Amino acid sequence: MKNSSDYFQQLDQEDVLHQYRDMFFIPKNKNNNDLIYYCGNSLGLLSKQANAAVKQELDDWATYGVEGHLEAKYPWVKYHEFLCEPMAEIVGAKPKEVVMMNGLTTNLHLMMISFYRPTKTRHKILIEFSAFPSDRYAVESQIKFHGYDPNESLIILKPSSKNGYITIEQIQEILKTEGEEIALVLIGSVNYYTGQAYPISQITKLAKSYGANVGFDLAHGAGNLDLKLHEDEPDFAVWCGYKYLNGGPGCIAGCFVHERHHDDHNLPRLSGWWGHDKVSRFKMGSKFEMMIGAEGWQLSNPPILAMAALRESLLLFQKAGINNLRTKSIRMHNLLANLLREWAHPNINIITPEKDDEKGCQLSIQLKQPDKKIFNSLIENNIIGDWREPDVIRIAPVPLYNCYSELFTFYNSLKRIIENHG
Ligand SMILES: *Cc1c(COP(=O)(O)O)cnc(C)c1O
Repeated sequence: MKNSSDYFQQLDQEDVLHQYRDMFFIPKNKNNNDLIYYCGNSLGLLSKQANAAVKQELDDWATYGVEGHLEAKYPWVKYHEFLCEPMAEIVGAKPKEVVMMNGLTTNLHLMMISFYRPTKTRHKILIEFSAFPSDRYAVESQIKFHGYDPNESLIILKPSSKNGYITIEQIQEILKTEGEEIALVLIGSVNYYTGQAYPISQITKLAKSYGANVGFDLAHGAGNLDLKLHEDEPDFAVWCGYKYLNGGPGCIAGCFVHERHHDDHNLPRLSGWWGHDKVSRFKMGSKFEMMIGAEGWQLSNPPILAMAALRESLLLFQKAGINNLRTKSIRMHNLLANLLREWAHPNINIITPEKDDEKGCQLSIQLKQPDKKIFNSLIENNIIGDWREPDVIRIAPVPLYNCYSELFTFYNSLKRIIENHG
């Protein structure tokens, strides 16, 4: 019986990733019961390993002071290098194409310095409409910085009114009419509202065929989708470390620069000493010699405490395997979506695409008669999702620490709440 608590408990017993849940601190309610935490798309949970890793760095700091740069268990002077390989594996890149640094929006600016180089005839940026405005602020400010007017240079792709999605045909259509004027195509994947995952390879090919540069904001993609950044060949990508990657609040962010740009000394960039060739960095010469690879875009020596949590977290991803995680994630998503579809309540509309390759963990449930009280009742029932105005409950069952039985509990709670809602 698929529609039973026994069935979901059975799935938990058979889950090849079941041991990972115990490695995390699961937030609890006042009565010390586990909450159902479906907010990993906003702030991922702390693992015991990450907790210990931060403690290790504090202890090394206490023990060694400045000597920790060389003497710490993981020497601070090259700390970021410990993250490149596991991070690269998760996003399908070569280790030298990936670096963890700064925040997502900062990285987006650094990438636009290199890959948004407007000219009189080609000065436009194409972005998707998103209720999450940081990328839009960043893009508008870059356009103004270069002396152009966002009213003329910014094109915002609106979701089609039919299903709320951005389609490849829409992108194609805009490129056909304005492609020669577009300098940069910047798309997010997964869309933070609908949960739609965009085809990175297809969008990249299309934009390239019109001579535009292409970047992706993978805030909701990294640690969620099975990405192939090297193969798909966008110019750059950025993402944050605190959502699916469980690096902790405000954790440093990721940046991918495709290998084909690594040797390009003519590419403009903003520089700092951590992007200087590491062999001669400490000679402190006055001339900047860039490091070859994504590391060359670094500015400052990085925050070790934030990196420590992230390093351990990435190792957990590596151990679990992004393929296994993706398989479980899709399975959880589909089980929940199927329960909701079979229930077919008139107030419920699932706006996340049904096809596996068009979605990640996140399931966006639209209320046809929106009422935030429904969401608040979920919280009273120990379920932490999030509410997006005006009408969407976002639920993100993540494969590392969420389990199958939680899906069934969530479904029953939502059903009870909505059916009793007057
Ligand atoms: C989470 C998120 C951000 C966050 O930006 P920070 O620079 O990390 O504060 C930006 N853009 C999108 C699309 C996001 O989902």
